[in-house]
Amino acid sequence: MPKQTPPVKKNETVTVTFEDLTHEGDGVGKVDGYPLFVPYGLPGEKARVKVVKVKKNFGFGKLMDVEEESGDRVTPPCPVYYQCGGCQLQHMSYSRQLTMKKNQVENVMKKIGHLEHVPVHEPIGMEEPWRYRNKIQIPVGEKENGELKTGFYQKRSHNIIDMESCLIQDETNDGMVAAVRRIATDLGIEAYDEESHRGVLRHIMVRTGQVTGDIMVVLITRTKELPHKDGLIEQIKEAYPGVKSIVHNVNRDKTNVILGKETTVVYGDEYIYDSIGDIRFMISAQSFYQVNPTQTKTLYDKALEYADLRGGETVVDAYCGIGTISLFMAKAAKKVYGVEVVGEAVKDAKKNARLNHIDNVEFYKGKAEEVMPWWRGQGLRPDVIVVDPPRKGCDEALLASMLEMEPERIVYVSCNPSTLARDLRILEDGGYETKEVQPVDQFPQTNHIECVTWLVKK
Ligand code: SAH
Repeated sequence: MPKQTPPVKKNETVTVTFEDLTHEGDGVGKVDGYPLFVPYGLPGEKARVKVVKVKKNFGFGKLMDVEEESGDRVTPPCPVYYQCGGCQLQHMSYSRQLTMKKNQVENVMKKIGHLEHVPVHEPIGMEEPWRYRNKIQIPVGEKENGELKTGFYQKRSHNIIDMESCLIQDETNDGMVAAVRRIATDLGIEAYDEESHRGVLRHIMVRTGQVTGDIMVVLITRTKELPHKDGLIEQIKEAYPGVKSIVHNVNRDKTNVILGKETTVVYGDEYIYDSIGDIRFMISAQSFYQVNPTQTKTLYDKALEYADLRGGETVVDAYCGIGTISLFMAKAAKKVYGVEVVGEAVKDAKKNARLNHIDNVEFYKGKAEEVMPWWRGQGLRPDVIVVDPPRKGCDEALLASMLEMEPERIVYVSCNPSTLARDLRILEDGGYETKEVQPVDQFPQTNHIECVTWLVKK
C-alpha cells in the first residue's frame, strides 16, 4: 500500500524499473510502492526519472535517461513526436501497442465490469499502421520571417510546431497542406494570431476520399473575405488538378472550435464522395465521417457478423451519426431504425440512404434515451439493437429501454473501454450475456481503441 508521505520530492531524480503501462500509454514505475507515471517509459525498462509532480498516492515523472532498454522500444519515425500532442505510442513497436490495448480492455472488463469470463480477442490492427487519417485540420501560424507555418499544437499549449508532414495522415492531405501554405505565403496572406485575435488564415482543413481519390480543401479565416481568393483557387488547382472542392469557412469567434457557421463553396462541389465497403457517402466540409475508413469497415463487418442478420430482422441503430452502421445493416435486415441527436448528421444519413438506394431505413433526430422509450410505446420490438455511443457511454435510460425491448442480440460498438465495461455490467444484470469483445485498432500510434461486443439474451 502507498505510504502516508510520498517517498519522493518534486525535482528529485530517481531510478525506477517500469512494471506496467497506464491506459494513456505512460510507464508505471514504483518507488517504495509509490507509483510514478512516466510518459514514454516501457515495462521492463530501468530508467532515470525526474519527479515533476507529487500527489498523495501517486506522482508524475519525466523520462531522463533509459539505462536498460526494452525490446519493444523503437525510434519514433516522426521528428516532432516528443513535442506534438497528437500521438502517444510511436516509441512502442506496433505489436506492443496492440498488446497494451488488449490488456487495457481485459483490465476494465475485470475491474469495472466484473466480467472475468468474457473473451477479449487480439485487437485487429492495420497492416500498415501509418498514413491512415483521411482528414486533417491544421492550425496556421507565422514564422519570424513572415512565412506561414502549419503544425499541431505542442502538448498542453497553443504553440504551433512547425511541421512538414504528419505520418498518420494520408499523404494527399499532407501535400495539400504544404501546397496551400506555400501559395498563401507567396500571396502574402497573414496567419491568424490567437492572442491578439487578429490576422486572417486560422486553419487549413483537407479531406480525401481514400477510395475515390476526391479531395476537398477548406480554408478557415477570421475575416469575412478570403483575400486573394482567385489567386488561391487557381494555384491550388494548378498544384492539385484533381481537387474537387474548395470551401471558404468564416470563424470570427475567439474559440478553440475550428469551423465557423458561414461556409461558401468557392470552387467545385459542395460534397466529395467516399465508400466504405459497397456503401457510398457524401461528405461536406461540416459532415462527420469516420477518419479511418479501412478500420471502420473492419469494425462494422464485425458488428454485422455479431448482428447475425438473416433478412427478416428489425434493427435499431442508436447513436447512428451519419448512418454508417444503419446502412451496413440495411442490406441484410428487413428494416433499420436509426436515432441521432445532431440534426445535420441525420440529414446526411438520409442523403446517404438515398444515394445508395436503400429504402428500408428510417432516421430520427432526437436523444436516443428519449426516442427509444417512445418507439417502444409505438410497439417497436427490434430483434437486434446496435449502439455506438460517444466516450461517455450509453445513457442509463437508454440501457433501461434496451432491456425492456428484449432484443435477441445487442451489438455494442464503443470508443471507450471503461464506459463499455460499466454498461455491459448493467446489460448482464438485466438478462444479457456478453459473448465476446473484439477490439479494433482504428487509431494506431495513439492510445485510443475501439471495441465491438456481442451480447445475447440469456
Ligand atoms: N456510427 C456513427 C458514429 C457514432 S459516434 C457513424 O458512423 O456515423 C456517436 C454519435 O452519437 C455522434 O454522432 C453523436 O452526435 C451522437 N450522440 C451523442 N449523444 C447522443 C444521444 N443522447 N442520443 C443520440 N445520439 C447521440
